[in-house]
Amino acid sequence: MPEPPRSIEHRFPGILTLEGAGVRLRRSFSNNEVPLFDPFLLLDRFGSSNPEDYLAGFPWHPHRGIETVTYVLEGQVEHGDTLGNAGVIGSGDVQWMNSGSGIIHQEMPKRSEGTMSGFQLWVNLPAAQKMSVPAYRGLTRAEFPEVTTDEGSRVKVVAGSYGGVEGPVAGIPVDPTYLDVTVPSGGSFDLPTHPGYTAFAHAVSGNVRFDGHDGHPVPAGETALFGPGGSVRAHAQEEGARFLLVSGRPLHEPVAWYGPIVMNTHEELLQAMRELRGGDFVKDRRPIVEE
Ligand code: MN
Repeated sequence: MPEPPRSIEHRFPGILTLEGAGVRLRRSFSNNEVPLFDPFLLLDRFGSSNPEDYLAGFPWHPHRGIETVTYVLEGQVEHGDTLGNAGVIGSGDVQWMNSGSGIIHQEMPKRSEGTMSGFQLWVNLPAAQKMSVPAYRGLTRAEFPEVTTDEGSRVKVVAGSYGGVEGPVAGIPVDPTYLDVTVPSGGSFDLPTHPGYTAFAHAVSGNVRFDGHDGHPVPAGETALFGPGGSVRAHAQEEGARFLLVSGRPLHEPVAWYGPIVMNTHEELLQAMRELRGGDFVKDRRPIVEE
């Protein structure tokens, strides 16, 4: 018997937050929501046409135990890290960074004539892989396949697959699907989802209605967390809609979280703090090479 479609169980309008050295962003979910979004930890949306809102950026800071996924919609973000990577994340590009045992990096939005906007998603690592060797993937927009459905929706596949088309990000422990979906006026969109996986959507623009018992449209900027089920079915209104659709395998492991470091136990957090003070936090350091 097929699983019923998923209903929205929780809605998150996003909270204005000052992060980094003073970047104004909207935080959709974070440590207060643990474990609702397991294996996802945080979603931030940045976006402004006023450079004062973002130029302070995110100067050198550590991460351990997570993957950070930066998706730039418009504008450019300069970055550098202790793995030796340096370059610019441009419009439509994605940086998928596995901090593993420890990385120190910076993420600095560049002044833009128009709007600078994008997302950062944090994906948790299983306990067994929190101290793994850090890895970094910089993917440009041309590397992402785009599928057009029979109903005229466009689907950019960042991770996982849609309609048999695989995204370029593979081999992530929690088996994530990350889609950027644009549905035309009055159109609909279907995604089969693994019943045991967590799934959420974030409305980028327009209002999106999802099938299920809570069918109130999700306005732009809002995040909807779905309950269990075998699919997500979305409908755009007259103005069309664009949304991110993300799912992944929950870890069901304890979460110990301090700022940019997310481990399983308090002792592991204390150890990370000791290593940061002692200068042996980064286990794998390489000289910077410009991309
Ligand atoms: Mn960071």
